[in-house]
Amino acid sequence: MSDVTLTYGSSATPALRGVDLTIEAGEAIAVVGPSGSGKTSLLRLMNALVVPTGGRVTVDGLVTSDESNVWDVRRRVGLIFQNPDNQLVSTTVERELAFGMENLGLAPPEIRERVEEALVRFRLQSLRHRAPHRLSGGEKQRVAIAAVLAMRPACLLLDEPTSLLDAAGRREVWRMLEELRTDSSKTVVHVTQFPDEIGLSSRVLVVFEGQVVFDSTPERLFELDEELSRWCLRRPAAMDIARELRDAGYAIPKGVSTLDGLVDALAPGHGGAA
Ligand code: ADP
Ligand code: MG
Repeated sequence: MSDVTLTYGSSATPALRGVDLTIEAGEAIAVVGPSGSGKTSLLRLMNALVVPTGGRVTVDGLVTSDESNVWDVRRRVGLIFQNPDNQLVSTTVERELAFGMENLGLAPPEIRERVEEALVRFRLQSLRHRAPHRLSGGEKQRVAIAAVLAMRPACLLLDEPTSLLDAAGRREVWRMLEELRTDSSKTVVHVTQFPDEIGLSSRVLVVFEGQVVFDSTPERLFELDEELSRWCLRRPAAMDIARELRDAGYAIPKGVSTLDGLVDALAPGHGGAA
């Protein structure tokens, strides 16, 4: 993105302005910021659902404002919505998995093969004949993500994919995201409102009042103080717990920001009471 501005319709203030951003293939990026700051707009720009009103967005060399590039951009960049109900269109899970590939014009044998692969990879076999709209929230979001991934986009955009799920559904989707992050061939851009999810990415963008105001590592972000409260961001619970434990004499290394990291630090042979 180069000096990107986005103004919706006749709105007086732009939803995004002055955005300069380069994302390399294979990066895992978290995007955070208060509601209304422009996070969803940023993702929409990345897969040509909207085009900038100023500046330019280029995906893999394709300028998104060039109408003839739109489908090539969407083929490369898949978007998962916050609400899976807005994404799921088919009457069965297996049809849902095939739907996007049919739109891409893939050959039926190729589609069948990829559907089977997706059913196995995301443990959806037992749901294959079920109606997507009757599944649990976590299952729906898993189907939505599997359907987008079956199209093999180079980049996956996730817009608060767990915010409407209960704790169990969130864990289901987390497990899936964990797997994606370790796949270095995929670029993942993940908008999240959960501080605990930030530490799972290597780079974090803060969007505030239509601007990207921070672009660095989660560790750097959580070292900040006033800025965090100005941007309405909380530290992950694990960091607060780590601080309490440190104060109580436990040797917890700095920078621990996830529950897994905390468990590792407390495992026998590490940390423990000083
Ligand atoms: P976030 O995802 O961070 O909550 P959005 O990107 O959805 O933020 O919205 C950024 C701003 O753009 C908000 O002020 C919102 O009201 C406005 N906006 C978003 N979508 C539209 C739209 N389709 N038409 C007009 N204004 C919009
Ligand atoms: Mg949003």
